[in-house]
Amino acid sequence: MKSLSRRSFIQNLGMGIGATAIGSSIPFSSLQPPFNTKPAGRKLNIALCGLGRYAGILAEGFAFSQYCRLAGIVTGTPAKAEAWKKQYNIPQQNIYDYQHFDEIAANKDIDLVYVVLPNAMHKEYVIRAAKAGKHVISEKPLATSVKDAEEMIKACKDAHVQLAVGYRLHYEPFNMELKRMGQEKVFGPVRLIEASLGYKVDSNKEWRLHKAMSGGGPLMNLGIYCIQASRYILGEEPVSVTAQFNPVISKEIFNEVEASITWQMNFPSDAVSNCTSSYTSNIDRVYAAAENGFFELSPAISYGPFKGSSSKGAFNFSTSINQQAAQMDAIGKLLLENKTLPSHISGEEGLKDNRIMAAIYEAAETGRKVSLV
Ligand code: NAD
Repeated sequence: MKSLSRRSFIQNLGMGIGATAIGSSIPFSSLQPPFNTKPAGRKLNIALCGLGRYAGILAEGFAFSQYCRLAGIVTGTPAKAEAWKKQYNIPQQNIYDYQHFDEIAANKDIDLVYVVLPNAMHKEYVIRAAKAGKHVISEKPLATSVKDAEEMIKACKDAHVQLAVGYRLHYEPFNMELKRMGQEKVFGPVRLIEASLGYKVDSNKEWRLHKAMSGGGPLMNLGIYCIQASRYILGEEPVSVTAQFNPVISKEIFNEVEASITWQMNFPSDAVSNCTSSYTSNIDRVYAAAENGFFELSPAISYGPFKGSSSKGAFNFSTSINQQAAQMDAIGKLLLENKTLPSHISGEEGLKDNRIMAAIYEAAETGRKVSLV
């Protein structure tokens, strides 16, 4: 297994070229977006809120985007504002700090706010963006609690704006091939999934290791992808979970969040998914065992280049995309057409994962099986 530090994990993101947009749509009639018509060639104007590492990768993605434009930024650091303004040619009137962020309500040049802040800050900025009349994408996890996720969904509904979660893998062809193979039962019904994602963290300077900001450890940050993969391969929702915290190697670093966690999800078809997310080891794989064969990806989640195979041999397609552009374009195209975003990236989808993660933590803490129905 190729060593996967946090740095290379992040660097591998956005390495692809070109852009593919995949997305289903249904009429968008009940909501009133902040714009009503789509002038020819108009792009969706996005403001990135929080200019950390992942925002930098999203910013690179705009270069490959057909439907979206980096139009604004929200940052608390004047030096960053200046650097981004120059690098991405952002007009001064589209630059906000956190105190003045609500003034974005009056800015017709911004259609959507993409919240790329630490997990616990998603709620405040999603709700403020919604109240300002902007559509919102929140990075994953949607929230750090079920209650917060519910409040965020309600705020967006009340403001008649759409809420999406940055689930980029729904626009990544290798993962969508796993979904197809699972849901179309290409090798018969899937009985067992093994999904793991981990990289080594050896400093506690990161907000990710502080529970108030992260909401939890690798489960919240990485395990959410394993939950997603299990759900989209099976096309089912888990009915119960069991979970175990793995031994903590460095108690000094992992004194607020788990270092590593393993959990099992049971599904209505009797399929089982066994997953691990970890800050103590490098792993990135999804494996599905069906009645008549298997299919797998490794690397599977952390930006590739992806490698897939099945009991019939290696995946016979090779495609490299910019995942961020593909994800934003799918969203941008639908919003420009005043259509509803698909349910698999909706706020409700993020809420489902928050419910499952809460149950996993409860199971690990109590040692009991926790029902989700
Ligand atoms: P980061 O630490 O690199 O960036 C966070 C940004 O928030 C920084 O610019 C920081 O200045 C700003 N910030 C504002 N107030 C802060 C505060 N009180 N404490 C800490 N930072 C504060 O983090 P990141 O890796 O960019 O992650 C941001 C979000 O994006 C997270 O929710 C994460 O889960 C998500 N993410 C998603 C992917 C993906 O592949 N979809 C990849 C990485 C991160």
